Amino acid sequence: MKVTDHFKAANGETLISFEILPPLKGGKIQSIFDTLDPLMEFNPPFIDVTYHREEFIYKKRSSGYYEKVAMRKRPGTVGICAAIMHRYGIDAVPHLICGGFSVEETEDALIDLKFLGIDNVLVLRGDARKFDGKFIPEPNGHHYALDLVKQLVNMNEGIYLDNEITNAEPSDFCTGVAGYPEKHFEAPNMQSDLHFLKQKIDAGAEYIVTQMFFDNKQYFDFVKRCRAAGINVPIVPGLKPITKKYQLNSIPRLFHLNIPKEFSDALLAAKDAEARRQVGIEWTVAQSKELKAAGTPCLHYYTMGDVDTIKEIVQQIY
Ligand code: FAD
Repeated sequence: MKVTDHFKAANGETLISFEILPPLKGGKIQSIFDTLDPLMEFNPPFIDVTYHREEFIYKKRSSGYYEKVAMRKRPGTVGICAAIMHRYGIDAVPHLICGGFSVEETEDALIDLKFLGIDNVLVLRGDARKFDGKFIPEPNGHHYALDLVKQLVNMNEGIYLDNEITNAEPSDFCTGVAGYPEKHFEAPNMQSDLHFLKQKIDAGAEYIVTQMFFDNKQYFDFVKRCRAAGINVPIVPGLKPITKKYQLNSIPRLFHLNIPKEFSDALLAAKDAEARRQVGIEWTVAQSKELKAAGTPCLHYYTMGDVDTIKEIVQQIY
């Protein structure tokens, strides 16, 4: 079932969904089940599975240092989606990125998803490789998520890359895209970012999932700005608890966002690790309750390996 149909079927109720990462290569599927089994009591209608590229060290510089210069796709996203649907009978939403894929490989990946009965795809550009400094697409790959949305929408209309395919069966994917309440870090300003976000929606994307944020005002302002810009699709807030001191630095650095002073002060003042975890849980619970009361279609939790914390949070708002 399409994510947007889940929203419609919910009839104004706020749904709860989760996002997981594939394990590092060689990791077991059981680690995925260990994450998801405890979350099934909250009846998530869908689970997102991210897609990643990883940097590998392979070149030794004359200085003696090894430099990260190569990248491979992390396997698992498609297989994990199939395993989720098989084990839990719920929808899985694979993320599909531009980075690392030519348009032909993208088409092949989408054909596989279609054969598996996957109805939804979250379409992303992916981040730049650290050693490139800026995002460089594959030869004959997409530059922006917008281009990937267009390819997917073409397939929904039965238009494949090879013109000679005349009997192609249209796919019927529901497409989601990313949005940034605090602006994507490469965008010169919010207006520009919203302009390109609107292009993704105008091209056929049907819902938005936001980057995490720690001040709900950022989300509410973002929704207002989107509506004023003519973006009228559901906007799902992405939520992630911060429970450790080092995350006060790493999360802003990695995700280019702000942490409210009131929250960072409270976390730093907590007396030990468990007290800090509780501060983080309380903050995300308060965020979740306010977002739910405001009628958001869905609360989307980034589990990022901390299922116990996520469970404690959702128990308090479910
Ligand atoms: P785009 O929409 O392509 O935008 C990228 C930048 O280019 C923005 O600054 C935008 O304003 C600008 N832009 C867009 N179109 C144009 C244009 N035509 N001309 C000029 N500028 C333009 N990363 C992963 O690798 N794997 C994942 O699974 C993953 N999941 C994510 C899930 C969510 C909910 C979110 C919010 C992010 C996720 N990311 C993931 C991170 C994402 O890939 C990065 O944030 C990436 O830098 C941007 O992706 P995007 O799809 O927003 O890109």
